[in-house]
Amino acid sequence: MVQLLKDNSLVASWQNFFEENYKSEIETVALEYPEKRSLIVDYWDIDRIDPKLAEELINQPYKTIFNAEEALKNIDVAVENKIILHFRVTNLPDLHKIIIRKIRANHLGKLKAIEGLVKKRTEVRPKLQVAAFLCQKCGAVVKVEQDEDILKEPNECFEDQGGCGRVSSLKLLTNLSTFIDSQKIEIQENPEGLRGGAQPEKISVYLEDDLVGEIAPGDRVVVNGILHSKQRRRGTFRLTSFDKTMEAVSIENQQLAFEEVDVTEEDEKEIIKISKDPEIYNNMRKSMAPTIYGMDVEKDALVLQLFGGLSKKMPDGTYIRGDIHTLFVGDPGTAKSQMLNYLAKLAPRSIYASGKASSAAGLTAAAVRDEFGEGQWTLEAGALVLADMGIACIDEIDKMNDQDRSSLHQAMEQQEISVAKAGINATLKSRCAILAAANPKLGRFDEFMPIHEQINMPPALLSRFDLIFSIIDKPSMEKDKELATHILHTHKAGEVFENITKSKKSKYNKKEKDFLMENVMPIFDPEFLRKYVAYAKRNIFPVMSDDALEILKNYYVNFRNSSVDSIPFTPRQLEAFVRLAEASARIRLSEEVTIDDAKRAISTIDQYLRRVGMDRETGKIDIDIIATGISHSQHDRMRTIMDIIQRLCDESKDGDAARNEIIIEAETSGFAADKVKEALDRLKRNGQIYEPVHNRYKITEY
Ligand code: ADP
Ligand code: MG
Repeated sequence: MVQLLKDNSLVASWQNFFEENYKSEIETVALEYPEKRSLIVDYWDIDRIDPKLAEELINQPYKTIFNAEEALKNIDVAVENKIILHFRVTNLPDLHKIIIRKIRANHLGKLKAIEGLVKKRTEVRPKLQVAAFLCQKCGAVVKVEQDEDILKEPNECFEDQGGCGRVSSLKLLTNLSTFIDSQKIEIQENPEGLRGGAQPEKISVYLEDDLVGEIAPGDRVVVNGILHSKQRRRGTFRLTSFDKTMEAVSIENQQLAFEEVDVTEEDEKEIIKISKDPEIYNNMRKSMAPTIYGMDVEKDALVLQLFGGLSKKMPDGTYIRGDIHTLFVGDPGTAKSQMLNYLAKLAPRSIYASGKASSAAGLTAAAVRDEFGEGQWTLEAGALVLADMGIACIDEIDKMNDQDRSSLHQAMEQQEISVAKAGINATLKSRCAILAAANPKLGRFDEFMPIHEQINMPPALLSRFDLIFSIIDKPSMEKDKELATHILHTHKAGEVFENITKSKKSKYNKKEKDFLMENVMPIFDPEFLRKYVAYAKRNIFPVMSDDALEILKNYYVNFRNSSVDSIPFTPRQLEAFVRLAEASARIRLSEEVTIDDAKRAISTIDQYLRRVGMDRETGKIDIDIIATGISHSQHDRMRTIMDIIQRLCDESKDGDAARNEIIIEAETSGFAADKVKEALDRLKRNGQIYEPVHNRYKITEY
């Protein structure tokens, strides 16, 4: 096999190429050998100097790479130091880049580049490279090179290796065999290349030796490698259909998000001009899902989320996220899913996923043992990891599984996800903003019930969202009329458009269509908006002015101290203000966070707190409602009622308290009867009291 591949003239061409162009690179690698074992060669260097060689590399990669590696053995430094290097070519031309779903039979055996996201990765495992076998008849050790998945076992002892040449049973000797590290990864198409709701296609890629261990799920990579087919098996039967796989030659990491968006000099001029328009904030809002009527506050929030605040790395190693997390909770049919969808299409690197996970990795990540790992454990990335450096749009987040629920805290705050299970010990990055939607358990949103009871998410998790909007669908003559008009006009505009483009004898003209479309046209088209956001995120890093800082500080301090018995804010909210203010400055491409930005942040948060954080009894905003589910005034009431129950229990001979007596006692302390009943129900639900006899309560002893 090896002898068949070897081609002396090819070796000579490569040797010539290396000596003339890569001598110093080879010497550098030699200095760090064996830590470094690969010579990285730019495809264009080969193409420039010897186009025929480059072509052969693409069309006959096995043979060409084999001979290039043979040539590398002949270079002086390699001979002197007994160095064996891998030949790894990078930077293939676009012509040879291929989309995973477009791989066809005629690409097999060719060198191609594929682009995508790393979805899964197995453990690194040793693989036999050269197997040593002991002949049971003569005791000779013979070696067999292994270049396939299935172990190649000789059934005779080889004479040319000094053996007896007889048919014999041979025993594998692992300690005389040589092994190579190997790893299997799964690459999935980039989400932005997908049309509509298409499922991303995947391909398995095999990595060997120094390529292993470098890649983590969630990474965006370009893999240059040789496309292969791998025979499918059903039990011991071999099928005629094959799976596509790739053997990696080199891997290029694509680190930077928003770099994919090209911003030309012309675009830049336009962006700067537009940023100076005093209407910029309104125009941005009007560019968010224009077919959706109203929801101005939500749309403003989405704009801020799109731009995001600054993530900061402190000298002590702490990391402060800049991404803004938003949650929509509300009635069904209020365009929540629609909004998420729109943003997922708009923002680069975004992922749209449902909390009801379809894969084992769910929203975060998991160690799984499946077919892919061929018996080994595999680390698989979920939506938040795949959306690294983008926006994760998660619909029906309330339906997520328990494992996600527990790792989401870390994912949202530290923007990392740790997996420690079965020898897999990894930390994956999830530096994404989360836009989530949740439907209330009882079908409709109840303004008077704490959010966490309605959507099956713990308060601690809820408090990690910078913004939570409740969307309530209440009938109102005025609003319904406008909404209906908007939706019907949207449909009519769509109808006229279809009619003009598809009907043979249309009685409509372009002017009528344009008039109808006007309402649903975004001010900035999505492509331009993407450029704008990319430009701002790449270039603008605003700093808080002293005035802005003062305003945020005063607002925070005043709010926290505006009443004695209520703690309206936690420091977490203060950080949310900062992020929103930074985002607001970025929208104007301003290097400074001004008073106006601080005010915009305050008003955005104020809107949300008024809707979901308001204590209905006192009219005060109380973050405790979000954080613990009950307000301060409720908490105090429950304490007093517990005291009353305790006293009545102590006084009664059965050690219990009658419901009507509790209510009478509490009323004399100034509580309304219905509030007391509500509190009793809650105490019972919480397990603080129980009801051994109907309408008589006892206190639970812990
Ligand atoms: P949800 O996810 O909140 O249950 P959907 O996003 O599925 O709701 O919306 C249901 C339908 O109602 C969608 O077709 C959407 O376009 C329409 N709809 C709801 N509210 C609005 C609105 N404010 N403006 C325009 N269309 C709306
Ligand atoms: Mg929905």
